Amino acid sequence: MNLRDTLSANLTLPRAPLAGVGWAELADGRVLAPIGWADAEADADWARSMLAGYGIGRGDHCLFATTGSEYWPLQLGTAVTRLGAFIGNIGAAAHEDRRLSVYLRFLPPKAVFGLTEALAATVAGSAELAALVAKVPHVLALPAAVPVLAGAGITARAISPVGPALALPCADGDGSHVDGSQFSVAQLPGTRSVTVSTTATREFRLAGAEVSTRGTVLPGCACGRPGPALNLL
Ligand SMILES: [Zn+2]
Repeated sequence: MNLRDTLSANLTLPRAPLAGVGWAELADGRVLAPIGWADAEADADWARSMLAGYGIGRGDHCLFATTGSEYWPLQLGTAVTRLGAFIGNIGAAAHEDRRLSVYLRFLPPKAVFGLTEALAATVAGSAELAALVAKVPHVLALPAAVPVLAGAGITARAISPVGPALALPCADGDGSHVDGSQFSVAQLPGTRSVTVSTTATREFRLAGAEVSTRGTVLPGCACGRPGPALNLL
């Protein structure tokens, strides 16, 4: 039996009941959010459709800056690999600038996902690093990092988990989209507080729960895609 046989044999084993467990950051705290297999498949399919306009294809490097305990990078990573691209990983902390610099110089990414405010501040503090980040075709950063990067002359778009959902910007519109086949979002009147509901088919269900991410629900997005879009800034 060789490696290929072993992998094939593994595929015939009974699947675990869940694809994984993520976190959902709600307004009143963080809760575990189980991910079913059908959830994971729907999430990856949607992310792949959202990335269509980014020109990510075979052999492209996509760099993720994450804490390692979140679900959205897995969702997006699956989509990226299905497009034929590959992923690199760095942490989300301010001191990850050295690893970020190595990737940018020796394996330039087509896209960077998830730059945090702390890491963005380090980037903004280094003219050399800021110039390298500015060359990346697509910079997607957490909302608090976007203005920090803008101050360093770097155009970034906002990406963020929204409770159990992901708000992912399209390549050419104004908004950060949420998958309307799995989630609905609403804005509490007169505030930037956002609530999320899940469809009845999700393993983890919410009904109008306020999430920690704040934003404005947009009437639509210039790209014309269905489903809710948010302005997270
Ligand atoms: Zn759009």
